[in-house]
Amino acid sequence: MKPALRFAIREIKEQAGLTYSGPVPVEEFVSSGLFGDARPEEPCTLDLEFSVGGSQILMEGRVGGRWLLPCSRCLAVHPEPFSWEMEETYPLEQEFIDVEEDVRQALVLCLPQRSLCRQDCKGLCARCGANLNEGPCRCSEASQQAGTKEEGKNAESKT
Ligand SMILES: [Zn+2]
Ligand SMILES: [Zn+2]
Repeated sequence: MKPALRFAIREIKEQAGLTYSGPVPVEEFVSSGLFGDARPEEPCTLDLEFSVGGSQILMEGRVGGRWLLPCSRCLAVHPEPFSWEMEETYPLEQEFIDVEEDVRQALVLCLPQRSLCRQDCKGLCARCGANLNEGPCRCSEASQQAGTKEEGKNAESKT
């Protein structure tokens, strides 16, 4: 299989530049386990522009799409758009430019460390794991009852 994101330097030189717009091999990146529980939603788009400058090839590009991310508080998977600029230089001596690794790195860099499904996400109950966005869980009730019971017990043991 021909690597999708490989470009011949001879071609770039002959045409004094090259532009490319196409999809990102998302599946390949995801299966390598780079993104943890997150994954880019398909399709992600890639725009590249190569130009020849002196003894180098300059690449300016942008990768864009949407992450599907687990919420940092409640773990609900939600989309978050991204757009990441890339800029690289490559020596003229090689035969091909393979930007796959650059795209991979760009995606790793733009992966948010923290993301909320909504600004006021209430998260999960630390005790029972219920999603508090769906309503209060039984724990708040139960802990109040447990509190009054404890007090009662203490009072009894003192007498
Ligand atoms: Zn959330
Ligand atoms: Zn709970």
